[in-house]
Amino acid sequence: MREFELLAKVFAHNPELPASVVIPPGDDMGAITFGEKTLLIAVDQVIDGVHFTLEQTPIEKVGRKAITRNLSDVAAMASLPVAAVAAVSLPRGFDGAEALADALRRTGAAYGCPVVGGDVAAGEGPLTISVTVLADPAGIEPVLRRGANVGDGVYVTGVLGGSLASGHHLDFEPRIALARKLPRPTAMIDLSDGLARDLPHLVAGARLDRLPVRPGCTWRQAVGDGEDYELLFTHPGPVPDTIDGVTITRIGVVTGDDRLVLTLDGRDHDLTGQGWEHVT
Ligand SMILES: [Mg+2]
Repeated sequence: MREFELLAKVFAHNPELPASVVIPPGDDMGAITFGEKTLLIAVDQVIDGVHFTLEQTPIEKVGRKAITRNLSDVAAMASLPVAAVAAVSLPRGFDGAEALADALRRTGAAYGCPVVGGDVAAGEGPLTISVTVLADPAGIEPVLRRGANVGDGVYVTGVLGGSLASGHHLDFEPRIALARKLPRPTAMIDLSDGLARDLPHLVAGARLDRLPVRPGCTWRQAVGDGEDYELLFTHPGPVPDTIDGVTITRIGVVTGDDRLVLTLDGRDHDLTGQGWEHVT
């Protein structure tokens, strides 16, 4: 089952949400209000064999990724992390639990996101780490996936493609500070499933004519590989070329139709249906 269909099924039976839910399911984070405050919440998991392979990945990097994936969602809302909790399912006989706990704690602390609780169980399944993160808008209205207008530019931070092969998926910097320095996007998401899969969350149609491709990668990798953890956003422009040393590329424009087209070297490529999914 595709990840989308699965989520749609889970939320289809959601009863009417109370007014305190100010960002409903379907964005990078949900949000609730209590008193005068807004709190953003998201959960994400990494699984051995799906998001990393234990055989090839130091446990410290696994722990780091479990936290930074969530922080990338915080960045996508232009918010600041507050705290996290983690639930870990250990395969029987696993001897890296302490190093893993250490990595979760240290990574959280490094990004101002202390791990304030968790749960550990042992089972027959693969190593699975589920992290819930809480975030604070901290003076910036959260940027949603919805809000792009026809004619807005489509922008992306950094370079795309080859994340798994290059190790970027383990070492990336969540764009928390950068997101808060952007001229306010009309819509924003972090790139986890690949440009071709994530862009349709922001717009129905777009014409792209430029891609910041990681050196050594092809444009097909840049649109399809996934796990880039860069920011993808729309803005009427102009937007600076660089912020904090990170390049920002205008890759195209939002159109009024429902096609995602990439034009390179005079040829049109239909991007609909490309990319990869975390659940198959
Ligand atoms: Mg996300």
